[in-house]
Amino acid sequence: MSNSDVIPSHVHVALLPSSGVGHLLPFLRLAASLIRHQCSVTLITTHPVVSSSESQIISTFLSLFPQVTEKKFTLIPIDPTTANTTDPFFLQWETIRRSAHLLFPLLSSSSPLLSFIVTDVTLMTSVISITENLRLPNYCLFTASARMLSLVSCFPSIPSSIPKASLPPALLDSKSFLAKDLSESGKCIKHSDGVLINTFEELEKETLEMLPTKGLPTVFTLGPLLPLEFEGGSSFAPLEWLENQRKSSVVYVSFGSRTAMSKEQIRELGKGLVLSGYKFLWVVKSKIVDKEEIGDDLDEILGHQVMNKVKKNYGFVLNRWVDQWRILSHKAVGGFMSHCGWNSVVEAAWHGIPVLGWPQHGDQMINGEVIEAAGWGLCMKSWGWGLNNHLVKGEEIGDKIKELMENQMVRMKAAGISEAAKKSSESGGSCHNMAKLFQSLNKN
Ligand code: UDP
Ligand code: UDP
Ligand code: UDP
Repeated sequence: MSNSDVIPSHVHVALLPSSGVGHLLPFLRLAASLIRHQCSVTLITTHPVVSSSESQIISTFLSLFPQVTEKKFTLIPIDPTTANTTDPFFLQWETIRRSAHLLFPLLSSSSPLLSFIVTDVTLMTSVISITENLRLPNYCLFTASARMLSLVSCFPSIPSSIPKASLPPALLDSKSFLAKDLSESGKCIKHSDGVLINTFEELEKETLEMLPTKGLPTVFTLGPLLPLEFEGGSSFAPLEWLENQRKSSVVYVSFGSRTAMSKEQIRELGKGLVLSGYKFLWVVKSKIVDKEEIGDDLDEILGHQVMNKVKKNYGFVLNRWVDQWRILSHKAVGGFMSHCGWNSVVEAAWHGIPVLGWPQHGDQMINGEVIEAAGWGLCMKSWGWGLNNHLVKGEEIGDKIKELMENQMVRMKAAGISEAAKKSSESGGSCHNMAKLFQSLNKN
C-alpha cells in the first residue's frame, strides 16, 4: 500500500503539545513523521513556556522545518493560588486549559482548512468541546506507556494488572490535582477520534492486546518515535570522554527534564556511584525548572569523594541539558539509571541499554514495571517515591548498580528489545499504523 493510496489530498494537521520537554518532543517527532507523509503541519506554540530547554527546542525545530506554520497561542495568566498545585509544569497545564477558548478563533482561521488536530492528553479536557463545535477531528497523543493508558482509561478504578502501590501518592488522594485531572481526561479520551501512542507491539504486547476492551477509540501505536537530527543541536554530549571508556562500562544517570532531587539524596547517589566501582556519566538536577539551575555549584552539591573521582576521570558530571540520544547511542554506555519517564524508556529500549529504574513521581513506576516485566532492567519500587523524605542510602544504590551492570540475562534481554524496536521501525510497523490513521480520517 503506497502512501498516496491512503493519504487524503491536502492533509493539514494542527499539533497542540502541552508543557514539559517530555510532552513536546514526541509532538515534534510526530510532526517530522507527518511531514514525511506529505502533510502540512501547524504547530501551536504556547507563550510563555516554562523552561529554557522547551523554548530552545521549539526555535531550533521551527528554523529547521520552515514549511511548518507556527501559530502563537498567548496564554492568559492565572492566579496560582486557584490551581491546587505548586508544580510549575502542572500550573502551566492548568493555564493552557483555562486559555483554551482562545483556540477557537485560532483553529477556525487556519488556512488551508484543518483536517484534524492532535492534542496532548493533559489538555484534552478543555480542547474537546472546542473541536467538537468546530467539527474538527481530534486525536489524542498519549505521551506515556500503554500500561498507563490502561489506568487512565478507567481511573479512578484501578485495573487488576496494576498494583495499587504503583500509583503515586497524589493519585491515591482523590482531591489532588493529578487525581482529578486523570479521571477527567480518561472520560475525554473516549470522545476523541483516536489515541496515538509512542510504543510498539513487542514493548507492551499484553497491554496492547487488552486495550480494545477498555472502551477507547482506536489506539494507533506509532512508536518508537525517533529523535530528529536537530535535537542534539546546541546540547552537549561528552563524546571525547566516552570515547576513552571501555565498551558497556559506563552507567549513565539522568532523571529527565523536570525531576529535582534533594541535596541529601544527590549526596547519597554520588556515594553510591563511587561505591559501585563503575564509571559514571551523571546529569545532576537539583531544581525542577532549568532556568533556575544556573549558578549551582557542583563542587558544593556533590562533595569531595565524587569530585575526586571526576578529577581522576572516573566520572563525568554535568548540570546542563545533554544530548541523551547521542549518549545512549555510545557503545561505552552499559547501563542507565533512570526515573522511567516514558521517552527515556523508549530511547533506552531502542539502544538496548539495561535500565535501573528509580521512579520519582507520576506514571514512572508503572512505566518501570513495563521494563521489569520484560526483564531488560530492574525497577526499584522499594526505594519509594522522590521527594518523600525517604533517603536511599549510597551503599544500597552502589549494590544495585553493580547488580544491573553484571547481570548478563538483563543485558541479553535488553539487546532483544532493541532488535524488536528496530524491526518495528524498519518493517514499517509504525508507518503502517500512520497509514491506518489516515484511513480512519477518510471514514470520518
Ligand atoms: N532529555 C535530553 N537531555 C536532558 C534531559 C532530557 O535530551 O538533559 C530528553 C530525553 O532524551 C527525553 C526527554 O528529554 O526524550 C525527557 O522525557 P522523559 O519522558 O524521559 O522524562 P520527563 O523529562 O518528561 O520527566
Ligand atoms: N513534582 C516534580 N515533578 C513532577 C511532579 C511533581 O518535581 O513531575 C514535585 C512537585 O513540584 C511537588 C511534589 O513533587 O513538590 C509533589 O507533587 P504532587 O503532584 O504530589 O503535588 P502538587 O505539587 O501538585 O501539590
Ligand atoms: N495524565 C493524564 N491526564 C492529565 C494529567 C496526566 O492522562 O490530565 C497522565 C499522563 O499519562 C501523564 C501521567 O498522567 O503522562 C503522569 O503525569 P506526570 O505528573 O507524571 O507528568 P509527566 O511526567 O507526564 O510530565
